[in-house]
Amino acid sequence: MKRERPLVIPVFTPQEGCPHRCVYCDQGTITGVTRPNWSRASLQAYVEDFLVRSRRHPVEVAFYGGSFTLLPWTRQAFFLEAVQGFLQQGRVQSLRLSTRPDAVSSQSLTFLQAMGVRTVELGVQSLNDRVLAASARGYTSLEVVQATGRLRDSRFRVGFQLMPGLPGEGRATFLETVDKSMTIRPDFVRLYPTVVLSGTILEDLYRRGSYRPLSLPEAVDWCKEALLRLSRNSIPVIRMGLQTGPTLERPGAIMAGPHHPAFGQLVKSALWYDRISPDLAEVSRGSPEPIIRVHPSDLADVRGHRNGNISRWLTEMSLPRLDVISSPEIPPGEFRVTSGQSRRPSSVVRCGPQAESILRQGQDE
Ligand code: SF4
Repeated sequence: MKRERPLVIPVFTPQEGCPHRCVYCDQGTITGVTRPNWSRASLQAYVEDFLVRSRRHPVEVAFYGGSFTLLPWTRQAFFLEAVQGFLQQGRVQSLRLSTRPDAVSSQSLTFLQAMGVRTVELGVQSLNDRVLAASARGYTSLEVVQATGRLRDSRFRVGFQLMPGLPGEGRATFLETVDKSMTIRPDFVRLYPTVVLSGTILEDLYRRGSYRPLSLPEAVDWCKEALLRLSRNSIPVIRMGLQTGPTLERPGAIMAGPHHPAFGQLVKSALWYDRISPDLAEVSRGSPEPIIRVHPSDLADVRGHRNGNISRWLTEMSLPRLDVISSPEIPPGEFRVTSGQSRRPSSVVRCGPQAESILRQGQDE
C-alpha cells in the first residue's frame, strides 16, 4: 500500500545556538530567514495556518537551520513546548529537528524524546576526517558513528545530510562517504552539493583560488552514483539540492557552485537517460523515429529538464524525430521503446520494484 506523504511544517532557526563557523555556512541565506523572532503565539499561528490549509497526514513539525541541541535549554523548551498542544490534540504526530553530530548527548535525547521528537537529522556532510577538518566542522567521522548509535539506542529515526564537493573532496572520497553511510544505515539521506555563498569563508577560499566548486555536470554525476548506491541498499534519498527561495535566488547570494532550482530532477533525468539509452539505440537502428512510452508521472523526468534528454538523444543518435509519450498502462518506473514505423513494441523493459524506487527518490518527506 502506498504510504501517504507526511505534511512537514518547517520552522527555521538559523544559526541560533551555533557557536561554530563552518566554511560554507550562512544559514540565513540557505533558509531565507535572517532574524528569527518567534513568539509562542506567532509560532502556534504559523503551525495552525499549515494545518488548516492541508489535509495531509501524518503531520510533523520540523525545526531546521541551526544546531537545535546547542540552543540553551530554555530556548529548546520554548520551541518544543509551544507545539505540545498540537501533539496532545493529535493534530501533529511528531517533531523533527536538525543538529550537529557532536551535539547529541544522552541527556538531551531523553529530553527530546519526552517532548515528542521522533526524527533527528544530523548535518554529517562528510565521513572523511580530512574533509571535515578542511570544512572546519569540528568533529570526526567517529563522532558521527557514536551519535548515530546513541540516537538509535533511543529509538529516533536518523537522517544524514551529506554535502558533495566540500574542500579537499574528490569523487572517490565522496563515494567513500556514501559507502560508509550505508554501513551506519541512516533512515534517509539528503544530498546538498556544496555551493559558495557570499560572505562565507568558502567565498574567500574561492576568490583566492584555493577552492574549486563542482560544476553542475560533476554534481549531477556524483549524486547520481550516490543515489544508485543508497537506493540499492534501501536507504531513501529524500532531497537532492538546496531548496530554492527568494533569499537564495537574490543576485549575488550564490557566488559559485552547482546550484540549480531543479537539481533533483537533473539527477533523476540522468538516471533515466542511462537506463533508456541502450534500448533506444537498439530500436533506432531499425527505426529512425522511435517512441518512448512511460507512465504519466515519469514523463517530465524522462524528457529531462527543458527536454534535455530528448535533445541529447536526438543529437547523439542522429535521430530525425523522437516521441516520448505518456502511457497510463506502463507501470511507474518502467518504460517501453517501440519502433515508430511499425508502431509495434520492439523492446519492453521491466525494471522491477528496486529501479522504480530509485527513480522515485528525492521527494522531501
Ligand atoms: S554547525 Fe551548522 S549552523 Fe553552525 S556554522 Fe556549521 S553549518 Fe552553520
